[in-house]
Amino acid sequence: MLTCGCGRWMHTEGIEERGGENGAPFWFIRSECRGCGLKVGVDVPEGQTRGLVDRLFWTDEALHRLDRMPPHVALLVREDVEQDLRSQGERVVTYETLLRPRTGGRIEWDSEAERRLDRVPAPVRAMARIELERTAADRGLSLVTVALMEEVKAKYFGMGAQKT
Ligand SMILES: [Zn+2]
Repeated sequence: MLTCGCGRWMHTEGIEERGGENGAPFWFIRSECRGCGLKVGVDVPEGQTRGLVDRLFWTDEALHRLDRMPPHVALLVREDVEQDLRSQGERVVTYETLLRPRTGGRIEWDSEAERRLDRVPAPVRAMARIELERTAADRGLSLVTVALMEEVKAKYFGMGAQKT
């Protein structure tokens, strides 16, 4: 536990996920002493909080993602994710945690959706796969279907979204 010079415990105020593109990912953990107001920030390698996080905490990136979900979905996701994390003895909810399907397994693709994905041009296929799996995960779904593909396609490329 991080302790302030005044003798009180420091409280976790925020966690930012940084690095990753060209360097090793790390977390910037912000803490504050509620007694004297001292603030400190510490970099740690991703996932290695070493007792610096005092309670279950969401990274800024995870919170941002949660904020973009419809409120009723966000509420369910928050409960599920926190329960899941506690059961695994973890403390920090990351952007990545939110992509983990909470039904236990990986996100599956039904065979027709898989066939359609194969027809997507290679340069955008990987992105399409990630976006679809994220959308499914956001909704608590464990399966990508053709219907979901159509919906995401309409959203990102405007196809089928225009009213005639
Ligand atoms: Zn203090």
